Amino acid sequence: MTHSTQDTGLRPLTLPLRLAGRRAASRTLFGPHVTNLGTGRAIGEAHVAYYERRAEGGCGVIVTETASVHESDWPYERAPLAAECGPGWTAITRACRPHGALVVASIGHTGSQGTSAYSQQALWAPSRVPDVASRELPMEMEAAHIRALIDGFDEAARIAVESDVDGVEVDAGQYALLRQFLSGLTNQRNDAYGTDRTALLREVLSSVRKRIGEGRVLGLRLSCDELAPWAGITPEQAPGIAARLVGDSGNIDYLTVVRGSALATARPDSHTEPGFNIGLCRDVREAVSGAAAVVLQGSVVDPEQAASAIADGVADLVELTRAHIADADFVAKLGSPERIRPCTLTNQKCGVRDVRNPVVSCIGDPRSGHETGDPPSEGTDPPRRALVVGGGPAGLEAARVLALRGHDVRLVEREAELGGMLNVAARIPGRARLGALRDWLAGEVIRLGVEVSTSTEVDLGDKTGVIVATGSVAGPRNYLVHDGAVVLDVVGLLRDPRGLGPGPVVVHDPVGDAVGVGVAELVAARGHAATIISQDLVIGTRLAPTGDLADATARLRRAGVTLAKRSVLREVFAGHVVVTDAYTGTATDIPCSTLIHCGHRLPRPGAFPSSALLAGDRVAPRTVHEAILEGRRAALELGARTVTA
Ligand code: SF4
Repeated sequence: MTHSTQDTGLRPLTLPLRLAGRRAASRTLFGPHVTNLGTGRAIGEAHVAYYERRAEGGCGVIVTETASVHESDWPYERAPLAAECGPGWTAITRACRPHGALVVASIGHTGSQGTSAYSQQALWAPSRVPDVASRELPMEMEAAHIRALIDGFDEAARIAVESDVDGVEVDAGQYALLRQFLSGLTNQRNDAYGTDRTALLREVLSSVRKRIGEGRVLGLRLSCDELAPWAGITPEQAPGIAARLVGDSGNIDYLTVVRGSALATARPDSHTEPGFNIGLCRDVREAVSGAAAVVLQGSVVDPEQAASAIADGVADLVELTRAHIADADFVAKLGSPERIRPCTLTNQKCGVRDVRNPVVSCIGDPRSGHETGDPPSEGTDPPRRALVVGGGPAGLEAARVLALRGHDVRLVEREAELGGMLNVAARIPGRARLGALRDWLAGEVIRLGVEVSTSTEVDLGDKTGVIVATGSVAGPRNYLVHDGAVVLDVVGLLRDPRGLGPGPVVVHDPVGDAVGVGVAELVAARGHAATIISQDLVIGTRLAPTGDLADATARLRRAGVTLAKRSVLREVFAGHVVVTDAYTGTATDIPCSTLIHCGHRLPRPGAFPSSALLAGDRVAPRTVHEAILEGRRAALELGARTVTA
């Protein structure tokens, strides 16, 4: 049943907002983020479809992927360059404006946080301070470089105006040269741009405002807490800086309050409390006293939290980037918020600053970022009877999409509850939000009228119209287990931790993802002496792409977990395990009453008819993303088949 947003308390999000005399259809903003959707350094057709889908779903302000204002900045292969963005900005505006969204072009320069790999030029920076991540030493910008930078912002603004976008956002956020000038961490100059660290940003804002005029939106993305209080911008300083910038520029129309710098993760995952910038945003909004609209940013994905921020005077607008990646119809569904596909904040597919250069996407909606290539789930097929075996993410998504397309669907699950591996993963510390995705999938399946049978096994015989998504079982162990040794499979342990006896625990993690690290945290929290062993140089190496690697290491250290790196597990005895150093072969004993095996898994064996389609872990055990992607593909393929019986 659809309710009005008045009933649900979410109405503040649906109210229109005027910026520079232009009307945004709602108080939600899709923030600038790396997508890798470009064509070379231009805005591509895939960008247009990606943004249009969010505008169609009711998003109020679309801020496009940040474009470099000068060719000295080339931070990743498909980073947009403003000089090449004109036609793309026009196309996005034409696609989004009819839906009521404002289109704002983000422009910036990443300075010392970029890379010289593509530009083959030294990085630009206020001072010769090496970047924390790349360790690359930049050059110190001279007067001519600063002039070229200001001219670059001016030229980018000119192109944006010619492209007819609704406005321009100047980037002084986490990955920005303008922030590097604002910060004592990176600006050690003695000239006018060092004695007043706001000078360059104020010049840029004045120049851009002059270029775009009063009738277009000027936004500013500003890091208000660099999480480096010894020299960086602090929450105490930020309101004063913001008030000065808003006052000096004549009129910034909106200011997005962000946290972070080269020293801190810009996009925290589910271990960080959503809405972590609320207090800071409130302080900045008070300081600017209504002279600019203020945008709340910072892991806000739940509609209730976003609506409260507006109702409570924290912000005028809320940046809900991941929420809109997970569900492009976020605003359109506010009347029935339980229908919004939740963002789990696990950053598994949307963080694409990754050496593999992937395209932005989402574990819950793999069509995100693939709008031009993947067909939508919605549509109708000639109706047929379909049987989905397995109620994990692949089976639930298959059943959901089949039902959505008008088929008569039955779903059977051998366990007593739906969810499969999502139930297991949601028990890992900090990953509880994966349970919300399970609940959403199960809720949609029920809402769409799928006949669900749990605690049920079926003999498939030669049935037709079948999708098999029966999941996985524990894989082989490549170490010796001696009599009396206790080895538990991680999935069984997470389902029922009561099976864990007393004594020291060793977590064997040859995979390096969130599971091994999370289980080590879990057993340490239950009072066990815990060791996590990995053949890698780094524990949890697969957490780097999600941004959790450094935090995970800190959490393990705080929990007292011993990190056994470069350690290859050889033998498990009653009371200890033997590992050898991956480089030297030296053997070491580690005390162990229970070994928890977190290795790769294998598809669950079982017969199926030759016409059946397989999905998810039944094909090859991977992540929830592949499970949902393949569940959807199988449903579309089955739905398109001619019914012969
Ligand atoms: S991949 Fe995860 S964190 Fe990213 S938008 Fe999707 S659900 Fe949210």
